[in-house]
Amino acid sequence: MTGNHQPRFGVGAVIATTVFALVSVPAAVGAPAHPHHPSPGAAGIGDRLYPTLGNGGYDAKHYDLRLRYATSAPMQGIDGTVTMVARSTQALSRFDLDFAGASVGSVQVNGHSAFFRRTGEELVITPAHPIRRRQWFVVQVRHFTAKPTKPNGDDFATTAFFYTRDGSATAGQPNQSHYVFPSNDHPRDKASFSFRFDVPTGETAIANGLLTSKRRYGSRTIWRYVQRQPMATELTQLAVGRYTVIRRGSVGRIRVRDVVPTRLVADYRNTLSVERQHLRWMQHRVGAYPFASYGTIVVYAPLGFALETQTLSLFDTTWFTSYPRGVWDPVMLHELAHHWFGDSVAPWSWSDVWLNEGHASWYELTYADQKGYLQDDAGDPDLETLMRDVYAAGDRLRADFGPVGRPLDSTSVWDVFNPNVYYGGALVLFALRQQVGDAAFQRIERAWVHRYAGRSASTVDFIRLASQVSGQQLHRFLTRWVYGTTTPPMPGHPDWTVDPVTPGSLAALSHATQSLGPSTMGLRPFRLR
Ligand SMILES: [Zn+2]
Repeated sequence: MTGNHQPRFGVGAVIATTVFALVSVPAAVGAPAHPHHPSPGAAGIGDRLYPTLGNGGYDAKHYDLRLRYATSAPMQGIDGTVTMVARSTQALSRFDLDFAGASVGSVQVNGHSAFFRRTGEELVITPAHPIRRRQWFVVQVRHFTAKPTKPNGDDFATTAFFYTRDGSATAGQPNQSHYVFPSNDHPRDKASFSFRFDVPTGETAIANGLLTSKRRYGSRTIWRYVQRQPMATELTQLAVGRYTVIRRGSVGRIRVRDVVPTRLVADYRNTLSVERQHLRWMQHRVGAYPFASYGTIVVYAPLGFALETQTLSLFDTTWFTSYPRGVWDPVMLHELAHHWFGDSVAPWSWSDVWLNEGHASWYELTYADQKGYLQDDAGDPDLETLMRDVYAAGDRLRADFGPVGRPLDSTSVWDVFNPNVYYGGALVLFALRQQVGDAAFQRIERAWVHRYAGRSASTVDFIRLASQVSGQQLHRFLTRWVYGTTTPPMPGHPDWTVDPVTPGSLAALSHATQSLGPSTMGLRPFRLR
């Protein structure tokens, strides 16, 4: 998808030339706005689990993010300006951006000062002139500020924008990129990005995508990056500090580069090089890697999870220091697999997160099985045994966390990113492969990442596509597996049984998962038994 509907607005004219990709999203929930009478855009995009996440009434097309890091102190706050090019989906008298950072300087819409106020995590903007329906517009939020926090793996909010002894970095999934910069912070509304960092010379600035220029002006250096393929805001990576970029040449047309704290280069130079094999392994199964660059950023911080920030998967050092290769190697594959399942094809709503985690877990576990790492990675000797164990726990998982495609709630992020979307999600794919056969299953996987590349898609889309590609009517079969409160029969395994749900078993399961703590962005071994 390439958009060349390039409007000419003052500021817009400068930015329009950088708009690379165009995607569209329908209007959000709430009382349907009269299409032509300007009315306020909704404060939420309509996600059941995060009702105020994202916003209605427009479709972001491109973000230009300019950030100034005044000093080289890792815990320093940033001063930024973001320019969003968007297209309205209704006539707008007012619209919201999501923002939970420290402060906002001023706001302009189409070059004119706009009134703004902050309500909770909403930045409510009233432009000087209403915006017509299907009109392109440019909103610029100037001199917003945000401050990184000391990361603590048990308090997820502290990992959105965090500092380490080497610098700072970000982890915005699922709902916290707007702790750093104003945006329409939901994966249903993806956009292309350009980044400009103004940092002290000697500091390294890193963002998603490709470096386009690095210029020194005395004691300051300006770094520029572009992320052409659409990206969900939750996958943004902004890292500044004493980092070293390890360039590893290319795999085909994919540029491979890693980012590690300069003082730890010797420890990670060889360790991370397995990515090249991972890229070949995944491309062999699901087709071409969807972006221009890939790599890993390692940070010295107790995050407790790994995260698929687009083109640069984020790991904390504990993965490599506390776990054997049999865990971190497959988890690296997991984060790479997300680049097809979650980054290129983003979830339409967070209830569809199993499409991310079920797929990434499926390829992680299949890879671990093939490499002889499964015992370390998931606690079972082979994939079939693991799937049978997950199957046995099926009803307990659904009772404790909700159906695979309908997490019960979002009180904690781990209620959404729960073991049933990982293991249960992988089990749904195992059942699908049992039902349609391996060849048809592979065709479904390839068609999914091809048809929805650069877009956002739902479980309904997946069920429809699986039926079309396999030539089987799979609606009833997959609806039972994804949304059922009990575990359906496993095709080809009439002998497999599901453990009964008893208060004891529920307590045991929730204790088992809770005690392991949050690491579910990458699958740390959950002992289901
Ligand atoms: Zn994951």
